[in-house]
Amino acid sequence: MPAFTQEQVKLSLGKLQDPETGRALKKQIHDVSVDGNHLAAKVGLTSFAMPIKDSFAQEVSDHLRSEFPDADVKVEIVEHVRPATPLGQVGLKAKAVIAVAAGKGGVGKSTAATSLAIGLRRAGCSVGLLDADVYGPSLPHLTGTRGQVTKADGKILPMVADGIPLMSIGFMVPPGEAVIWRGPMLHSAVTTFVRDTDWGELDYLIIDMPPGTGDIALSLSQLLPLTGAVIVCTPQEVALIDAIKAVGMFRKVKIPVLGLIENMSSFVCPDNGKSYDIFGKGGAKEYARQDKIAFLGEIPISIPLRERGDAGKMGENFDDPDIAPYLDAIARQLVQTLANNAKANPVQVQLPVLG
Ligand code: ADP
Repeated sequence: MPAFTQEQVKLSLGKLQDPETGRALKKQIHDVSVDGNHLAAKVGLTSFAMPIKDSFAQEVSDHLRSEFPDADVKVEIVEHVRPATPLGQVGLKAKAVIAVAAGKGGVGKSTAATSLAIGLRRAGCSVGLLDADVYGPSLPHLTGTRGQVTKADGKILPMVADGIPLMSIGFMVPPGEAVIWRGPMLHSAVTTFVRDTDWGELDYLIIDMPPGTGDIALSLSQLLPLTGAVIVCTPQEVALIDAIKAVGMFRKVKIPVLGLIENMSSFVCPDNGKSYDIFGKGGAKEYARQDKIAFLGEIPISIPLRERGDAGKMGENFDDPDIAPYLDAIARQLVQTLANNAKANPVQVQLPVLG
């Protein structure tokens, strides 16, 4: 007789929370088998949470081992399908909308936004990338995507790179044409990007925000609920001041700040392999700690990374052992932060409207 039953194991798994919603595991318990002291559990994880698959598998195994110390535990994580519900009045089907922002230009915000999107996509999520930096759209360049978007059935068909639907003003106006829009025109451009683009069904819409001002953030937050903002900064103290301003701006318009990414954190010299902290070290991490903002990770200064950006081949960074671990860690850490938030505030089940 085994010391535990299938039912007991299922009950025990129900004490764990789903990383996407924070709700107790229920339908995600796909299969449990008990044979002697062998305990095998198949637990579902949505594509939204796939970047943290390994840590979730570990959490499930640790939990079962502590609840059933005599068991020989095997945990398999399988995909659990949960469709996205339409967001806001625009009806965008996305589970999270993340604004990537910086206090000023040139800190690598677009590089970070693109890397985040590719990292999430490679980890199994469905991702869209929106270039809302209408003053200096760099997405077409960074992703090596040229041309003008077309329409079908009244919707704009986004460009696609690395399996990611992309939208940018750069696909609507001829290259090099200065975009000098202000106020209402900006608002309508962003509305068009979000509402009139055929994004399909997304786990994440990553938005590359224009640097500085809060206009676009406000426009966006009137259109749909933004999950939060990720702020990119460089390690210099002056850059940190800009990042703190950006944090303040998002907080003022009630958009949660999800985390901080430090770009150009150090430089590994290709000649001698030594690491140099050209712009200093640790300031962003310390600020994040003090202000209780998650530190999502860092990206070192890398000549190949810059070259791949110029060549429109950002995806290749994920095959570079010197860079990939940093970029993968940022995507993972963002999802872990969202999972921690969901666990602290579980999403309520939407009951069907009766009557
Ligand atoms: P922003 O969006 O903040 O204006 P970009 O992402 O367009 O900045 O980056 C500006 C330039 O800096 C680009 O040429 C980009 O390739 C380069 N760059 C960004 N991050 C790094 C890095 N970690 N190492 C080397 N070059 C970088």
